[in-house]
Amino acid sequence: MAARTADAVVVGGGVNGASTAFHLAKAGLKNVSLVERWHLGAGATGKSGALVRMHYSNIPETQLAFTSLRYFENWSDIVGGDCGFQQVGTLVFAAGEHREHLEANLEIQRQVGVNSRLVTAEEALELDPSVNVAEGDVVGYEPDSGYADPSATTYGFAKAARDFGAVVLEDTRVLRILTEGDRVTGVETTTGIIETSVVVVVAGAWANQLFEPLGIDLGVYPRQSRIAIFRWSRDRSSLHPTCIDHANHLWARPIDGNCTLGGAEMGPPLLVDPEEFPESVDQDYIDFTRQQLAKRYPSIARSSARGNWACALMGSPDSRPIIGALEQYDGLYTMTGDNGTSFKTAPAIGKCLAELIVSGEATTVDLSPFRPSRFAEGKPWLDATDYDLEDASVSR
Ligand SMILES: Cc1cc2nc3c(=O)[nH]c(=O)nc-3n(C[C@H](O)[C@H](O)[C@H](O)COP(=O)(O)OP(=O)(O)OC[C@H]3O[C@@H](n4cnc5c(N)ncnc54)[C@H](O)[C@@H]3O)c2cc1C
Repeated sequence: MAARTADAVVVGGGVNGASTAFHLAKAGLKNVSLVERWHLGAGATGKSGALVRMHYSNIPETQLAFTSLRYFENWSDIVGGDCGFQQVGTLVFAAGEHREHLEANLEIQRQVGVNSRLVTAEEALELDPSVNVAEGDVVGYEPDSGYADPSATTYGFAKAARDFGAVVLEDTRVLRILTEGDRVTGVETTTGIIETSVVVVVAGAWANQLFEPLGIDLGVYPRQSRIAIFRWSRDRSSLHPTCIDHANHLWARPIDGNCTLGGAEMGPPLLVDPEEFPESVDQDYIDFTRQQLAKRYPSIARSSARGNWACALMGSPDSRPIIGALEQYDGLYTMTGDNGTSFKTAPAIGKCLAELIVSGEATTVDLSPFRPSRFAEGKPWLDATDYDLEDASVSR
């Protein structure tokens, strides 16, 4: 079979890969190939909680999230179709000891232009009457945030990429990245070779399988992520705000009209083999999540579990995403190690990667804080106003 050629190959059809393919094709690159081993959204994306919120403890991630919010709000104009965005607002909770952190982070959001503010316990109760604000808790509110449909978002990007001439190859696995000297020359896939001078590895928990043969070690590791769904009594709104709860280490959102989908951090990350991991959680995790959610939403203490799932995603050494050019090979780029927070930022990540690839610099948001080389430089990312410096938890 004759080799195909492409201006760029994007490996991985999750939301970040689909967004990158869309932005590259829109920028005018020819035959951009989005190569997906199974089907679009088969990795972490299809199992995402898909919260869209701006509350971060630094400017760069807030900028990525804020830029992306404009996509979710104007999806049909920018991408086309419907990404299922529900602008229900987000409540952000922190324990009293972190009041200064929450206030400083709200100031970061405001500097970027995000609509966010501190609210009293009474206001939080008005916004979500089922919530419990414990003595001393501090609460932030983002009215413009919410959640979207992760599969619809991904398929929307992929369709729009196709409309700009991209090729979407499902059921096609990239076996290895081809190089000559210090530059990328193509990829070998299960359906043949694609010649290209640009390869973007957006392969989620599987990225090390492609990095290792190239001698690239970013310190990223596949880890488990888990959620559980609980049916509540009728006194809740089906559009209650989503929640990020740094006091109880959990996040939650409405689902199915009468349930809450949530995840609680239970101990340190569980490492998994991305080729063989459980797709469901054990009873201990359901009990723990119900118990944690009930601290914020007391009615959930009596609620029935209605479902759960588990999957693999990629952790990074400093719990921040790695986005940019890999200096080991000309033409090699990545977005990896997102630690389970990069659904909401995927539109901006794809846009910035396309800018970097096409023009040599990301102008929408400066990607240099996310550079892969920061670990080799001995400069891992630390935020002074993080909520859990000792064991940075996954906060969606
Ligand atoms: C339970 C859970 C809840 C989450 N909640 C949120 C949230 O509320 N908000 C938020 O912003 N983020 C959230 N996230 C994180 C978010 O979903 C992920 O950051 C995002 O979906 C990652 O997308 P991706 O495209 O980078 O990776 P993935 O979706 O994992 O996609 C990688 C793709 O690459 C493919 N692939 C791998 N190797 C190859 C190969 N060799 N050849 C071809 N294809 C390959 C895989 O099949 C896969 O489809 C959550 C994640 C989970 C798991």
